[in-house]
Amino acid sequence: PVLEPLLLARGVTKRYGAFTAVDGVDLAVMPGSIHSVIGPNGAGKTTLFHTLTGTVPITLGSIRIQGEEVSRLAGHKRVQRGMARSFQVTSLFQNLSVRENLRVAAQGRVPREALFGWGRPRDDDAAQVTADAMLSRFSLTALADRPVAQLSHGQQRRLEIGLAMAAQPKLIFLDEPTSGMGVDDIADIKALIASLKQDNVAILLVEHNMDIVMGLSDTITVMQSGRVLAEGAPDAIRNDAHVRRAYLGNM
Ligand code: ATP
Repeated sequence: PVLEPLLLARGVTKRYGAFTAVDGVDLAVMPGSIHSVIGPNGAGKTTLFHTLTGTVPITLGSIRIQGEEVSRLAGHKRVQRGMARSFQVTSLFQNLSVRENLRVAAQGRVPREALFGWGRPRDDDAAQVTADAMLSRFSLTALADRPVAQLSHGQQRRLEIGLAMAAQPKLIFLDEPTSGMGVDDIADIKALIASLKQDNVAILLVEHNMDIVMGLSDTITVMQSGRVLAEGAPDAIRNDAHVRRAYLGNM
C-alpha cells in the first residue's frame, strides 16, 4: 500500500496585516519520519509551526492530519488527533518534581498557554503509568523527585520532549531543541531525537544546528521569505545551488 502522509499541509499562509510571514507553504510529513524545516532568520519557520499547531490562526490553506482537515480546529483538538509540541522550559512547573510534571502532562492539566491543550484528562493511575514510562524512556528516573528548577538546562530539555511524548502523539513539533546548549547536551539531544524513531513518532523539527539537521532528517524543507525554497533529502539539499546561495555558503 502507498504510505499516506501523516500531516499534509497545502498553501499554508499567515499574514500579519499587510505582511505575509508564511506564503503558500506545502508540506507533507510521513509517519515515523524526521522532517526538518530550515531557513535564514525571519524565513517564517516558527510562524509555520504556530500555524500548524493552532497556536496562531491560519489565514489561508489546508492542514490535514491523517486525511482530516484540522486547520480551523483549536490546538487542543489537534493534540487529540495526535499532534504534540515540546514546551519551553519556562512552561514547566519549576517547583514540581520531574515525576509530577510528567504526571500533570499525562493527565492533561498543564496550563493552556503552555500546551495549547491536551485532550481529555486521563485518570490518575493511567497518568502515573505513563509518567513512569516516560521517566525510564528519557533516562530521568534518577531525577524523578527533583524539582525541575534543580535540573541542568540539558536535563530540562530532555524533560520537555518527555512531556510532549507523554501525550502519546503521532507527530511532535520540536522548535530549536538545541538552542542555548553546550556541545555535550547537543550530542545528548541528537541521540534522543534519533531514538524517537523507535517510538514510531514523526518529528517536525526547526533547528539551526546543521549537524543535527543533516544527520537526522529524512526530508528537509528550506524556507526563505515565507516560501518553500527547496525540499528533499539531506544530500540533495546540501548540494542545491539555490539553498547554498540563501545560506551564503554556510552549510
Ligand atoms: P528565526 O530563525 O529567527 O527564529 P523564523 O524563520 O522562525 O526565524 P519567524 O519567527 O516565523 O521566522 O518570523 C517570520 C517573520 O514574521 C518575521 O519577519 C517576523 O518579524 C514576522 N512575525 C512573526 N510573528 C509576528 C507577529 N505576531 N506580528 C507581526 N509579524 C510577525
